[in-house]
Amino acid sequence: MGLGDRFGRPEPGAVKPVRTAEFDRIARAFGWSADPTKVGDDAALLPGRQLFCCDALAEGVHFRLDWSKPADVGWKAVAQNVSDILAMGGTPTQAVWSIGMGHDWEDSVFAGLAKGAKEACKAFGCSLVGGDTVRCKGPGFVSLSLLGKLRAPKPWIRSGAKPGDLVYLAGKLGHSAVGLEALAQRLSDHPVLKPYVRAHRRPRPAFQTIESLFSKKIHAAIDVSDGLSSEAAHLAIASGVALVLDSGALTASRTLQKAALLLKQPHPDHWILHGGEDHSLLFTAPPSLLNAPIPGIRVIGSVEEGQGVWRKMDKSRQRMAPLGYMHD
Ligand code: ADP
Ligand code: MG
Repeated sequence: MGLGDRFGRPEPGAVKPVRTAEFDRIARAFGWSADPTKVGDDAALLPGRQLFCCDALAEGVHFRLDWSKPADVGWKAVAQNVSDILAMGGTPTQAVWSIGMGHDWEDSVFAGLAKGAKEACKAFGCSLVGGDTVRCKGPGFVSLSLLGKLRAPKPWIRSGAKPGDLVYLAGKLGHSAVGLEALAQRLSDHPVLKPYVRAHRRPRPAFQTIESLFSKKIHAAIDVSDGLSSEAAHLAIASGVALVLDSGALTASRTLQKAALLLKQPHPDHWILHGGEDHSLLFTAPPSLLNAPIPGIRVIGSVEEGQGVWRKMDKSRQRMAPLGYMHD
């Protein structure tokens, strides 16, 4: 099936996932729903206005212990789940986790993971209340499940975007991808690149900014874990609309351009459009949202009737393929 075929408007209540093997596999096994009590959104809504999600990090795939300290990995395991809870309009409460100790991990790795996870829990106002530990025969993993409390009046689902909405962003784009590239090129100590490396090792969802949105009318939201292009495609498909992103709002800052020069990346826009793991929030709401400015929120596009994700230049627009991180 060609890519375009996958961008059809979904049946009510049934959402077609983006093309990857990962999503096809999940959809075959569980279905894919716009109902937040079922599979298909950043976190599931449970009775009693609770939210529930989980996310795993595999050694060699999502982290390397020569590029991140165990404490950074522990932090990330919490932060990426916090981002999913925030993306539903809630705040995190309690977590449990499973640690698969890599075959060569010493006790100090466990201690480091725990230290970083506790630091993140403190930063984001939740607590780690249990878990499980196993020893692997190969590389290790960390999988964390997080409960949260819905704070917005209704969950912010992916399928609520409406033509006429604006597309907003809370948080940064491309920083983690730059940090990863700096590590790969062994330039992580360069003063221009250090903040990006930190963004990669210790992602920080825009917690307070997002909290300030709980009382506002938000139509749809998704956290940017795999990259803007991929998450925008999820939101467009789930809502049966077109997302038109303004390329002027998605250009590289001076510092990012400097980083691109250092890392010999001729297209820093690629990091912004497709880089993963920044855990910013992509959402849609009526244009009136910013009648009074909200610090930390900016407009990056608009919602139109139609389908797909588009990048608007001065006089033209181009369809944007979902080129974010693929799990499979
Ligand atoms: P996120 O990036 O927000 O963590 P994912 O892309 O990992 O979300 O997952 C997309 C959706 O698929 C979510 O609703 C998630 O709960 C669901 N999902 C992912 N993996 C599984 C699985 N192994 N079993 C059931 N549902 C899954
Ligand atoms: Mg998510």
